Amino acid sequence: MQSIRVVAIPTETVERVRATLRAPVYGFPAHAEVATDDAPCRHCLRAFKAGKDRRILFTYDRFAGIESLPQPGPVYIHEDACSRYSEDAGFPEELRGSPRTVEAYARGRRLLAQELVADSKFERLSKNSSPAGTRTIFK
Ligand SMILES: [Zn+2]
Repeated sequence: MQSIRVVAIPTETVERVRATLRAPVYGFPAHAEVATDDAPCRHCLRAFKAGKDRRILFTYDRFAGIESLPQPGPVYIHEDACSRYSEDAGFPEELRGSPRTVEAYARGRRLLAQELVADSKFERLSKNSSPAGTRTIFK
């Protein structure tokens, strides 16, 4: 059985975005604002407090450094420093209450499976057999 490992954006990437207000690799301008919803910060994986927390929106390639084919998309991080979520901490409890799409990839960024988890039982996905080299991404 393969356990779930949740990998947040690297701290050095987050610090660079905060310092430059530019997207890594692409250089697109990042946007800072007061949170308008409870989307998660992709560094600490905590939900933003709408109307209170400040956040930065930027373009991030979730396969950067892993695959040659990019897959950029928009992500939020806290504008102020926050602690990176530990890869060994299991599924973030704060995110369990909202539906998430889970994708499994093989090497070469080949999509093997995609599943919407709306019942908060993410651990059942780890009970499915996964081929070696599978990478699972949460959205
Ligand atoms: Zn954060």
